[in-house]
Amino acid sequence: MTANPAAPQRFLDEDKSLACVHCGLCLGACPTYLETGNENESPRGRIYLMRALQAGRLVLSDAAVRHIDLCLGCRACETACPSGVQYGALLEATRDHIEQTHRRSAFQRFLRRIAIERVFPFPARMKLALWPARLARKSGIARWLPKFLRDALSLVPANASSIHLPAVVRSTIASVKGRVGFIQGCVMSVMFGDTNAASVQLLNQAGWDVAVPPEQICCGALYAHSGNLERARECARRNIVAFEKLDLDAIVINAAGCGSTLKEYGHLLHDDPAWVERAERFSAKVKDLTEWLRLEDFKFQISNFKPVTYHDACHLAHPQRITKPPRDLIQAVVGKQFVELPESEVCCGSAGSYNLTEPEMAERLQRRKVENILKTGAEIVVTTNPGCILQMRAGLEKAGATHVRVLHIADFLAEAANPGPRAKKNSTTNNH
Ligand code: SF4
Ligand code: SF4
Repeated sequence: MTANPAAPQRFLDEDKSLACVHCGLCLGACPTYLETGNENESPRGRIYLMRALQAGRLVLSDAAVRHIDLCLGCRACETACPSGVQYGALLEATRDHIEQTHRRSAFQRFLRRIAIERVFPFPARMKLALWPARLARKSGIARWLPKFLRDALSLVPANASSIHLPAVVRSTIASVKGRVGFIQGCVMSVMFGDTNAASVQLLNQAGWDVAVPPEQICCGALYAHSGNLERARECARRNIVAFEKLDLDAIVINAAGCGSTLKEYGHLLHDDPAWVERAERFSAKVKDLTEWLRLEDFKFQISNFKPVTYHDACHLAHPQRITKPPRDLIQAVVGKQFVELPESEVCCGSAGSYNLTEPEMAERLQRRKVENILKTGAEIVVTTNPGCILQMRAGLEKAGATHVRVLHIADFLAEAANPGPRAKKNSTTNNH
């Protein structure tokens, strides 16, 4: 990086950026630092860079942008930081600043502005896009494509399921506890419809009626992470309107990445006096599925399970700090067959759309994750985020470890709570 004089830029919250005291205690938690050993690819280095940009001590060069782009946004540094630095907020503000002031290559613009922002958040468009992608995989054309496209296609599931959920799904148990809202998610509703159905089934079995307002849209995470905060705010406002008219005990989400964005609507709209209170009320109701389900609501029978391990999805473990409830639920099913995954909390390289925009680092982290999974001897890996599932399945397939199944925790629990046809279905539809 070259230090050139530049006009000071005001894009960071000064107090938040000054909270970093450069102690370096976050370095060992940062996946890109673990992989490169380079201070510029660490949280401390990136915060230093953000502050230099803001102060005008550094121009926004391609090299500076690379260091920010290579950040996964996993927020493991927040969990590790004793000073409470809000790295995620700093990163979002910096990315927003970059997208407004820096001109990217034509390819990166296409990827970010068209593929990620105009396809992924729209289920109907994503369904259309999946069709040629699946054809390319099945026909074998994929092997003639450049490596980054082959890697992208390896993430496309052969058996994506898309299920339309009714606006209300009532619990059939005698003592209904109340009513919760359910967020369907963009990727979840197109590729993991069965998992959404399993989540609703579990909520019903636990005594909750489930409302699925059809007006809900993308949570805004894809926009916020790619530096388009204004569009993320529009998504937040639309979702607040869709859910606040219902009288709900909670708003349940089964995708960790979306959950952390939904819980931060108050922060996203903090500068908008007309919305901030409504946003905070909305966020206070958001619960991850594993946070909301109670062990006592189910009668799991510890059965003949093979060893099972658990991968902490970054946005559940770090921004939401939820690590124990999913482990408790899994252990209720498999008992002593639960085995801890080394580096469970280190990102698998999926990180939203990171595996598309930064395929090289994504692949290094994917390999690292697969090596750790294989060390456990587990035959089932459970997790809580669709991107992690696709990334780990693709990595295991590349490693020839197709005997290892990767399951969303809702599918895993539904299979345990309802042995029979569903269990059979999961076992036949899981692996790619
Ligand atoms: S982000 Fe936190 S842990 Fe990392 S260097 Fe700054 S103060 Fe230390
Ligand atoms: S968000 Fe993740 S990749 Fe980025 S600096 Fe923090 S720990 Fe490192």
